[in-house]
Amino acid sequence: MITEPHLADNFGRRFPYLRLSVTDVCNFSCSYCLPDGYKKTGCESFLNQEEIVRLVKAFAALGVWKIRLTGGEPTVRPDFVQIAQRVASIQGIKKLAFTTNGYKLPERAQSYYDAGLRAINISIDSLNAEKFKAITKHDRLEEILDGLDACHDAGFESVKINTVLLKGYNDNELDDFITFVQDKPVSLRFIELMRTGDNQDYFSEHHLPGTAVTEKLLARGWHLKPREEGAGPAQEFAHKGSKGTIGLIAPYSKDFCKSCNRLRMSAKGALHLCLFGERGYPLRHLLQSDDSSEELQEKIMALMNFKKSAHFLHDNNSGVRDHLASIGG
Ligand code: SAM
Ligand code: SF4
Repeated sequence: MITEPHLADNFGRRFPYLRLSVTDVCNFSCSYCLPDGYKKTGCESFLNQEEIVRLVKAFAALGVWKIRLTGGEPTVRPDFVQIAQRVASIQGIKKLAFTTNGYKLPERAQSYYDAGLRAINISIDSLNAEKFKAITKHDRLEEILDGLDACHDAGFESVKINTVLLKGYNDNELDDFITFVQDKPVSLRFIELMRTGDNQDYFSEHHLPGTAVTEKLLARGWHLKPREEGAGPAQEFAHKGSKGTIGLIAPYSKDFCKSCNRLRMSAKGALHLCLFGERGYPLRHLLQSDDSSEELQEKIMALMNFKKSAHFLHDNNSGVRDHLASIGG
């Protein structure tokens, strides 16, 4: 029997999905992530296009078929569209996605689609313009909502919204979000606020368990959709009266890590086996020439032995991650 190449760990999990950060830089200052804006650390540059292409080719040879470009804010890179074009055309890559704060999305959505991006996650933490501004320090809610419509017009296959659950900011907006998705074919995902090195006090004040959402959804007649094979850790809810769905990403929930199907690369070329808990394994030295491709693949396969069964967030241990802008969430 011929088996397709695939990356797997010692716990029987497979990894067809890579989240690739292309920059640590961000133009927003979200209160839970970069409240004082992006500050340069170190003098290293971010992976260039040649390095990115070599990296993705190696992962594709190991069976990875879905790539998400993320950051920081990936679209601040002047060559973001070229990166997308090059990654999309790599043999074996079937789905190219990105996560963005939606900056200038109305005028850029079509060029993103034309570059080969097919799935977009847009971060929108509030549907109230004032609150949105308070969270991101940018008065851009309207622009971003227009951008979401522009993505549908451009032909994106998947349009998702990421909403970090924030006690005191958006915990009273569930009905507004439900109304919002009623007529739009979007999947809105609430994400439990995660504790990082930089947001300890903020976390204590604003963290809300995801059960707050699930209880309300079930009470309003929403039902949990069966998990699709190979799906990530999000729980998806649907309602017969709604075109859109609502999901929950609850990293603090029991068994969250059991369905982990993703690996992460930092913008400076380190492989992260988990969002939390380790410093990353540098691979950049193996991205300098096409001749290192086999060695790179062997290294990636060997590193899979170090993937742990779960994160240690429950022990109040957020690993070494100061904020998620350094790895892309
Ligand atoms: N800048 C892009 C954006 O905001 O969509 C991509 C990078 S951002 C780090 C990716 C996702 O992580 C965003 O949806 C953001 O809201 C989420 N995020 C950032 N910090 C978080 C935290 N501490 N807990 C939960 N989600 C977080
Ligand atoms: Fe920037 Fe995204 Fe972090 Fe907000 S969540 S500060 S947009 S990286």
